[in-house]
Amino acid sequence: MPTFCPHLVGSMSQGAAGNPTVAMVEAAFAHHHLDWRYINMEVTPADLPAAVLGARALGFRGFNLSIPHKVTVIPLLDGLGQSAALMGAVNCVVRRGDQFIGENTDGKGFLASLQTLIDPTGKTIVLFGAGGAARAIAVELALAHAATLLIVNRDPACGTELTDLINANTATQAHYVPWTPHYQIPPLADIVINATSIGLYDETAALDLDPTTLLPHQVVADVIFNPAQTRLLRDAQTRGCRTLDGLGMLVNQGIIGIQYWTQTNPDPQVMTKALKSALDSI
Ligand code: NDP
Repeated sequence: MPTFCPHLVGSMSQGAAGNPTVAMVEAAFAHHHLDWRYINMEVTPADLPAAVLGARALGFRGFNLSIPHKVTVIPLLDGLGQSAALMGAVNCVVRRGDQFIGENTDGKGFLASLQTLIDPTGKTIVLFGAGGAARAIAVELALAHAATLLIVNRDPACGTELTDLINANTATQAHYVPWTPHYQIPPLADIVINATSIGLYDETAALDLDPTTLLPHQVVADVIFNPAQTRLLRDAQTRGCRTLDGLGMLVNQGIIGIQYWTQTNPDPQVMTKALKSALDSI
């Protein structure tokens, strides 16, 4: 007989019925004997205000948000964490007292992965992309005192907007770099990051860059988690670079969310195994 679970969190998304993070978070709850549930909720943009009110009324301890709700949720919340305020996007809401506070764990999850290989403090970083993931990553890298960010994006308007955001609010020097064909990675770059959607569900898709300009001292990271071994990461490994895949970022943002909600440090291996198994079944 099911009993009422007082600890509810969830994911508000649209069109993500097969959300693999549900299995990942629920596996952590089960492993740590936490009496919590993580529920996938299909919410249309028009219903978002009612959904947030409903989450308050039902005593939800928090929830994740995915596209298209990451920006429109902000006026429905009671406050924002530092990086969420800076990037203007929330993917994780945490109940603190009787307040819903918006955080962004995408960039924090990326940073946690990156710090297993390299400290971005004082480093020069090439960042491909200027969408939501790139924005989250750029802000966290700047808050972690990266020296220089070269933001390479196809659309100059988005690239310039992100560059201006970083320069206006942090001490990191950001530069917008037009994405010219067969882009040459500058040899002074310490870290190269793909934060575009190139490679999603396509292990052959290549960024328009010259792979021979990837150098062995560089750490190369990709936000793409399906497939985890992207063409960029394979090229980088061939060139002797150390690499990080998007699975680590996704697991780490889940870990940070669970820490926020439950004050428990979940086991990353349990979560990684559950996530891989859920992705395999999609
Ligand atoms: P957005 O739609 O906000 O941004 C997409 C970015 O990719 C833009 O910079 C866009 O450039 C660029 N882009 C797309 N297609 C091309 C192309 N053919 N050539 C050059 N640039 C291109 O998406 P998000 O930032 O939200 O997500 C990006 C990826 O990150 C997704 O695949 C998502 O799954 C992944 N992701 C992974 C996470 C993880 O935990 N591992 C977390 C969040 C996201 P332009 O501005 O020129 O259009």
